[in-house]
Amino acid sequence: MAENVLELHGLTKRYGSHLAVDGAELSIAQGQIYGLVGLNGAGKTTIIRMITAQSIPTAGEIVLFGASSPRELNAVRARTGAMVETPSFYPYLSALENLEYYRLQRGIPGRHVAAEALEAVGLAGTGKKKFKHFSLGMKQRLGLALALMNRPDLLLLDEPINGLDPEGIVEFRNILLDLSRQRETTILISSHILPELSNLASCYGFIDKGVMLEQITAQALREKCRACLELQVGDVSKAALLLEQELGSVDYEVLPGGVIRLYGALDHPERVTQILVQGGVCLRSAENKGANLEDYFLTMIGGGRHA
Ligand code: ATP
Repeated sequence: MAENVLELHGLTKRYGSHLAVDGAELSIAQGQIYGLVGLNGAGKTTIIRMITAQSIPTAGEIVLFGASSPRELNAVRARTGAMVETPSFYPYLSALENLEYYRLQRGIPGRHVAAEALEAVGLAGTGKKKFKHFSLGMKQRLGLALALMNRPDLLLLDEPINGLDPEGIVEFRNILLDLSRQRETTILISSHILPELSNLASCYGFIDKGVMLEQITAQALREKCRACLELQVGDVSKAALLLEQELGSVDYEVLPGGVIRLYGALDHPERVTQILVQGGVCLRSAENKGANLEDYFLTMIGGGRHA
């Protein structure tokens, strides 16, 4: 098992009587890209700010690279890079000049560092172009470059793809995938739109009103969201036999309680029900199941609300 880079235990943040984060449990293994998903105001930023020490927890524990005491935590935070709010860059400076300014301010050694960070986010070719002429996607990538200057082992990104157009989202996603593959950087990325993180996150944590609802791997989530026709039948063996005889090599699985999930023939549900009924199977219900990622999330937090 890979070592956990980050663990949160009962992490809580209270503002007056308002619980912004309520006993959050979370664990991120080395090399994972963890998608923290929640609607606006769910508590994502507050969690990230507590990890980066921009906010002091009311209760609970943060274990970062195995360290949990305040002194140790301060030391290991040097191994993290974060993009929480859009950093303020100088409009009349180029990408390189802006990064150089921050490098010197933060005391990061090495003149090559800024250029390397620009290379990693695909901004190496922007030359003298001033920041004020950058597109939103370029600005976000420069923010990411800033977070990468210390070559962090853990990258914390708060809604970095918020507001980007589809092309910008793909570009940003590819940069993160490269970082994950080439540098084995562990990444925590938050979003209020779950599909933005698909093809990127290897694990998801869902948060609503300060409460972590579920932590699930991307693979398990894909399985859960797979479209199927769910059949509740009297005699499972007989039903399965009929389906195989009539539909050929159809993909299905049998669940406890007389349930069959059929993953093929979804365009013709009436044919399926007809096969079963005419074959003498007691069909109690037939329901289209499986949702897209966004539906899954919205259903989990109570349905009906939109981000
Ligand atoms: P968003 O994407 O809108 O930033 P979020 O999931 O990051 O959403 P947070 O910013 O963490 O949510 O906010 C969680 C809750 O805590 C919200 O109800 C917010 O109003 C509240 N909150 C955040 N910061 C403060 C603060 N400094 N003082 C009081 N309440 C706060």
